Parts: sequence; structure tokens; C-alpha cells
Amino acid sequence: MDFDFLFLGTAMFFFINFFSKTFGCNINDSETIFFFKNIFYYKIKIIKDFFKAEIYFLNSCVIRKNPQIKILKMIKKINFIKKYKKIIILLSGCLTELEDLNKIKSINIDIIFNSLSIFYIKKIIKFYFLTKKKILFIKKNKIKLFFKTNNLVNIMQGCNHNCSYCVIPQIKGNEFFYNSKKILNYIIKNFKKKFCDLLLLGQNINSYKFKKINFSSLLFNISKIKNIKRINFISSNINDFDNNFFFFYKNSKKISNNLHLPLQSGSNNILKIMNRKYNIKKYLFFLKNIKKIKFTTYSTDIIISFPKECFIDFDLTLKIMKKIKFLDFFFFIYSRRKNTISYNFRENNKIKKIFKLKIFQKIKNNYIILINKKVRVFVIGYIKKNIFIGKMDNFKFVFFEYFNYKIIGKFINLKIISVKKNVFLGIYNEFYYL
Ligand code: SF4
Repeated sequence: MDFDFLFLGTAMFFFINFFSKTFGCNINDSETIFFFKNIFYYKIKIIKDFFKAEIYFLNSCVIRKNPQIKILKMIKKINFIKKYKKIIILLSGCLTELEDLNKIKSINIDIIFNSLSIFYIKKIIKFYFLTKKKILFIKKNKIKLFFKTNNLVNIMQGCNHNCSYCVIPQIKGNEFFYNSKKILNYIIKNFKKKFCDLLLLGQNINSYKFKKINFSSLLFNISKIKNIKRINFISSNINDFDNNFFFFYKNSKKISNNLHLPLQSGSNNILKIMNRKYNIKKYLFFLKNIKKIKFTTYSTDIIISFPKECFIDFDLTLKIMKKIKFLDFFFFIYSRRKNTISYNFRENNKIKKIFKLKIFQKIKNNYIILINKKVRVFVIGYIKKNIFIGKMDNFKFVFFEYFNYKIIGKFINLKIISVKKNVFLGIYNEFYYL
């Protein structure tokens, strides 16, 4: 049978044998129905005999590992048939949306398209026969977001800490804290939505002190504003938390359970030269205390190749990274800045820097620690029918299935079931009440 003639032609007299397999949820089922509706133009016969088909349509699912393994096995099988017979393979579904596209392209598939491209499927198939080239047609999701997250509020300027590598105290000067009443008024005036997600900013935010109001009391006052539902803050120094913070962290549901705590190095020697004023023991002790209160995720900053950092120091940093399992870490190659204490330190040679950088680049983040965890999510919009998008306390986006749009703008608990790169998938657990 001449396929090209069949598809392109006006000759619509022959039936084409289609083998179709849909994996996953009922959304995928409905998309498969929609797919066939869109190609009604062609004479199609859907058959169950796997070996007799001329066109294979696979609608994939990657929510769980099992369907993903199954689909990859099926693609392998079909490709085996392809060696002996002229066939076409079409792939759609979550695999095309969530998996690394380069990885998918490397699989031998003729037409890859995502669910948003189903409208164009007739044209896509025609184009395939005209060009005889593989097609990758991924239409980007138009995510509809109804809530802005990370509403930024600066509460201070400058820093008093004088870390030996840092230029902030020279540029911004000593700590200057904004009037707490003005901060509260600003928040009340500017963030009027019913559900609001705040991100407080400051170089060393937890050293905040304006008259009698310190950081913990400021957090407490902000948390009393009704429509403020979640408060994140960046960056903190473990030396500047007081006992009230621990009390408040325990008792207020509004405080995010993700803390950004710059560590900078895993070596006490280097921390001392950096003038960080804590050591590893103190840092770990702080985390231990926080962990006792509730499940918390951490992110951190690390400076690589700080002057005088030898391989033992570097190794200590790698070890501590392994031990703490930061959800995220941000690393920076040391850069020498004028007017800093470390400006006059002798720098490591370039080869060492590149070597260390390469090792660091291979360290993976620890998103896996969230798998099977119940997490709080603020639902901010949807990407397509029944698939919603929410944001966790740790700033990560998570997709999940739900049936009612009224969920947008609410806090819910989700159970995280998988993560691909930085896309999390979860299943609805329950409403979360503040
Ligand atoms: S690194 Fe952070 S704490 Fe240290 S001086 Fe700079 S801004 Fe302050």
C-alpha cells in the first residue's frame, strides 16, 4: 500500500490500519479520542493486532515510572517491526511534555507532538508525507496564572557582617532597617488579594531590628495580616536567629518551611578566613533544632576556590553537602573584589578552580527527598483542563490533577509522586487550613 498516496491524496478509498495505545489517566483517554476526531478525514481502521498496523499512535504517561517503562518497551518493539515493514510511529502525551526533548528525539519516532498540537495533527501528518522528515511539533503550554507569587518586600539595606570576600558592606554600607510600621502599611496597601504569598528580602534579613521590633516580631506582625498566607525570606545567617524565631516557626503555619542558609564552605578553616563567625558544628546544630520542629527543606550558597582553600577543605565541603542534603544549592567561583579583605589573599591557580568547578557541577540537587512527602502548595493556575499548577514553600512548581477550578487561590496538601528535572508531579491530598 502506498502510504504517501493515501495520505496526501484525494484517494481515500483504502483503510489504514491504526494501532493505538493510551497510557495513564482519563485525560489521556479523552486526548486520544480527540486525536482520532481530528484525523477523521483519513480512512482509519483501529485494529488490535499489534503486528498488522501501518500506523502506531502512542499516547504516553510519565506520572509514574511503570507506564514510562512500558511505553519505552513498546517503542522498542514497534521499531523492531519497522525493520521489516514500512510503518509510522506517532508519539504524544506527557512524555513529550516533561521528558528531555533531546532524549526523546534520539528515540526512533516519526512524529512527536504534544497534546496542545492535536489541533494541527492533520497538517502535521500531511507535512510528514511531503517532507519525509521526522517531525517534532511541541506547542508550548499557555499557562494561565491567576496569582502572582513571591511578592517582594525589601525590609533592610546593607550589612554589618564584613565577610572577608563580600563587597556589600562597602557598597551598601551598614545595616539600615526600614520602619516596621511602614513595612506593614506597604504590605497591607499593595497586596490586597485574598491569598498572598510574600518574599521578604534583605542582605542579612534576620538581623532586622527597628526600635523594639526584631525579625521574629516583624514576622509575627506580618503574619497577622489576614490575606498574607505564606511568608518566605532571603537570606539568613544562622547567627542571627533568636529563640522567638524557633517559637514562631513552630507555631505559625504562615512561615515557609524552606530556609535559605548560606553555608559558603564546609571547612572550619575557610569559614574562619571568610569571617563567617560560625563553624560547621554550629551550623549542623542549628539544622538539628529546626528539624525537631518540623520537616524543613534547605538551600544554600557555596563559594568554590576561595583563596587558601586546599583540596582537604574542598573535600570537607563536598562531604557536608552530602550530609545535609540541601534541596538546592547555588555555587559561585570565588571572584576577587576590590576593597574586600580577601582582595590581598593569594588566589588558587586557574586549573584548580576549573577542576573543582567540574566536580561541583556533577553534584545533583536533592529533589528526591520530597518524593512521597506531603507538601503545602499554593494553587496559582492551570495548564490545561484538569491539570493545575501550584507552588510549594520551596519555590518549586508542582503539577497535579484536580476536577474543580475553585481550587485556584487555595492552599492544599499534595503528595509528591515524581520529579523530572525541576518539574514535580503530585496528587491531591487534602485542603490545607491556615
Ligand atoms: S556575605 Fe552576606 S553576611 Fe557576609 S557581608 Fe556579605 S551580605 Fe553580609
